[in-house]
Amino acid sequence: MHLDNQSLVQRDLAVLWHPCSQMKDHEHLPLIPIRSGLGVWLEDFAGNRYLDAISSWWVNLFGHANPLINQAIKGQLDTLEHVILGGFTHQAAVELAEKLVEITPPGLNKCFYADNGSSAIEVALKMSFHYWRNLGQSQKTKFITLENSYHGETLGALAVGNVALYKDTYGPLLMDVITVAGPDCYYREVGESWEQYSSRRFADMDLVLSEHADQVCAVIVEPLVQCAGSMRMYDPVYLKLLRAACDKYNVHLIADEIAVGFGRTGTLFACEQAGISPDFMCLSKGLTGGYLPLSAVMTTDVVYQAFYDDYQNLTAFLHSHSYTGNALGCRAALATIEIFQTQDVLGNNRRLAEAMAKAAERFKEHPNVAEVRQIGMIVAIELVKHKQSRQPYPWQQRRGLKVYQYALSKGVLLRPLGNVIYFMPPYVITEQEIELMAEVAWQGIQIAVQD
Ligand SMILES: *Cc1c(COP(=O)(O)O)cnc(C)c1O
Repeated sequence: MHLDNQSLVQRDLAVLWHPCSQMKDHEHLPLIPIRSGLGVWLEDFAGNRYLDAISSWWVNLFGHANPLINQAIKGQLDTLEHVILGGFTHQAAVELAEKLVEITPPGLNKCFYADNGSSAIEVALKMSFHYWRNLGQSQKTKFITLENSYHGETLGALAVGNVALYKDTYGPLLMDVITVAGPDCYYREVGESWEQYSSRRFADMDLVLSEHADQVCAVIVEPLVQCAGSMRMYDPVYLKLLRAACDKYNVHLIADEIAVGFGRTGTLFACEQAGISPDFMCLSKGLTGGYLPLSAVMTTDVVYQAFYDDYQNLTAFLHSHSYTGNALGCRAALATIEIFQTQDVLGNNRRLAEAMAKAAERFKEHPNVAEVRQIGMIVAIELVKHKQSRQPYPWQQRRGLKVYQYALSKGVLLRPLGNVIYFMPPYVITEQEIELMAEVAWQGIQIAVQD
């Protein structure tokens, strides 16, 4: 059957409800139907190409239709597509768990699989709570989270998040959490370094821990970059201080590396830049190279042992998802990790990050840019109405959306977070493509800031 952009969009709108979308927008904002992808490029049914500058919502690492990952999945497909992981196991699940233990920070020796990022957060929250309960500390029922954090959309994950746009509507449904002032360096004083600001901001966390630690299971953070929270960034010193304080106050540390893991921040995992090991590390998104839904919660032997007992004592972690440890997903993840281990991905990313820094340089002087910030393969440009006062544009004006629309018309997929334009491309982007991405963003911003 012949397919074209228009007919597919019509059929879509008749039956499909899209994620994170006001569907009415599509009365004037065309959906983009994608026929195929190759490397950093997506192609629609009319042959228009789009540079995927946001790695398809931060999941893609080594390009679309990556030959190595394709091959790995095809091989697995002919052997075993999926099997129940309760009471059963399979080669890919074992090999991936071994690999994850090897490459994650020291002490994370046990791997619990789930099938998406939010589920991994739910697992970590429940495991932490349940650990303390198994130890007889059932007064520990609370979680501490940072201002402006994001951990997913299921009710538990949403509760420990702090982005009002996603959270407020569901407030009455959510568990109470303790929210602490964040280390976000956008708010540092003139002349203050990231390190100074982030360590100064730790005072609030320390105070809250000293007052509430006996009721707190864990502190949950996104190491170094609060991605959904407008790509706000902070210094590794905060994580160092947090690790020490969690030890001192006997509280778990949950590192949500769902977005920042797998090389995004310059190191394989963001926690490495602080030299810390969390008690729980949540992984998803890049885990499968952007191919298949899979997630993992890495934890310690100490946590594992607190659940390990005779069945009658009812200390087991009775949590599961149907697609836990899916074989195709595990195989895609193994191929992804193999690329890291056989090619100099982090070295190559350093060069690409430098090229991104160079391409973003000109935005710093723009009269409507308050800040250009970068950690590794993430660059964010904060658009404001007034540069000096940093007064934001009213959100109703949807300036970022104008950049999105303009960029699409020029063949680049940018998806600003409000008025923050960012680049988070797959690691197979070239320097020329980085320049194209930045040039299109520059032109889009000129249009978006008019009137
Ligand atoms: C995307 C994301 C999640 C949620 O993952 P899903 O697979 O979308 O449920 C959680 N935490 C962070 C930091 C994320 O970026």
